[in-house]
Amino acid sequence: MINQTNVHLGNVRSVIRELFEYGKKRKAEIGEENVYDFSLGNPSVPAPDEVRAELVNLITNTDPVALHGYTSAQGDFSVRKAIADDLNARFKTSLSADSIYMTCGAAASLCITLNALLNAGYEVITFAPFFPEYSVFTAHAGGTLKAAECDKNFQPDIAKFKALLTDKTKAVIINSPNNPSGVVYGENTVKELCAALKEHEKKTGNRVYLISDEPYRELVFDGVYVPFIMNFYDNSIVCYSFSKSLSLPGERIGYIAVNSAMENDREVFAGVCGAGRALGYVCAPALFQQLVKKVLGKTADISVYKANRDKLCAALTEYGFEVVKPDGAFYLFVKSPENDATAFAERAKKYELLIVPADSFGVKGYVRISYCVSPQTVEKSLPAFKALAEEYK
Ligand code: PLP
Repeated sequence: MINQTNVHLGNVRSVIRELFEYGKKRKAEIGEENVYDFSLGNPSVPAPDEVRAELVNLITNTDPVALHGYTSAQGDFSVRKAIADDLNARFKTSLSADSIYMTCGAAASLCITLNALLNAGYEVITFAPFFPEYSVFTAHAGGTLKAAECDKNFQPDIAKFKALLTDKTKAVIINSPNNPSGVVYGENTVKELCAALKEHEKKTGNRVYLISDEPYRELVFDGVYVPFIMNFYDNSIVCYSFSKSLSLPGERIGYIAVNSAMENDREVFAGVCGAGRALGYVCAPALFQQLVKKVLGKTADISVYKANRDKLCAALTEYGFEVVKPDGAFYLFVKSPENDATAFAERAKKYELLIVPADSFGVKGYVRISYCVSPQTVEKSLPAFKALAEEYK
């Protein structure tokens, strides 16, 4: 018999993927423009012009053997150095090229990091709501994921978090701006969280690593400040991705940054390199390594996401829905008007609205709306949301 855990994972699609596939079928039946697909976090804004220009430049002017060849397992040195320099300039850190490991996006960054840190039986804590794949990645690395509840504004509840810390806790994953709530964790929250971890280490001698999953770092509105975790906690690791900031999710490029202020940063970086090797996650796409080096600091035009957020928040609130106004990412978290969010999302399908019940994100009674769609889709969807709201009056 082969590994049945993996057979099961392969057979059971995530709720989001399931809805996305349903949407594809429905679009073929009634026309793309008649389905309001808010299921997937696939950016609708094109990559910045500089990305296309640099791609053409790289393909035209670089020796193809060098451009498409293997890089070092951890990534090209000059790319890693450029990323370290960029982070140091922005966040006053002291990272070097050897703090950076290039990956195929945030998913790979997380898998490698968890495999580097965990032994069988270790525990990882995150905050609900959370990206559902954290459970899969943690289990695959031999650990168990526990989720701490957030407060009513979806900021981490530190007292509830502290109650989950045990001798087996090895890592904490935070994700801010958050998928699916869109909430940005404030500086006080981050400080309290770090203080709790330091206190735990002092009391028990157990070091807990803080993993910051940051695919949405640059996707914030109205100048909201996103604290950079390395400025608050030495035992921290950033799992970054260019998927959303540069609208390049299909190109699979990101990195892991291990905080150089960590006492055992060389050991952890070696663990990252080893886990990358063991998982076969070596030499991230070479062309896109070179590309990101050229466009560090650039971000896709997020004004469309902000306009979508503002329009949807205002309209849904007017129709009577309870909405958590997000500061970042491109997701809207809406309270289901009936207890069963799956039944609500099912009912929404009647109006061709594809929205994701949040049970798989670890919070019941909410749905997620991915508003990284065209402004026309948002505009056209409003009567459907209104009609859906009428059903609950
Ligand atoms: N983490 C979070 C919170 C996400 O929302 C996503 C993708 O949507 C990922 C990780 C995976 O990102 P990537 O596509 O860069 O692997």
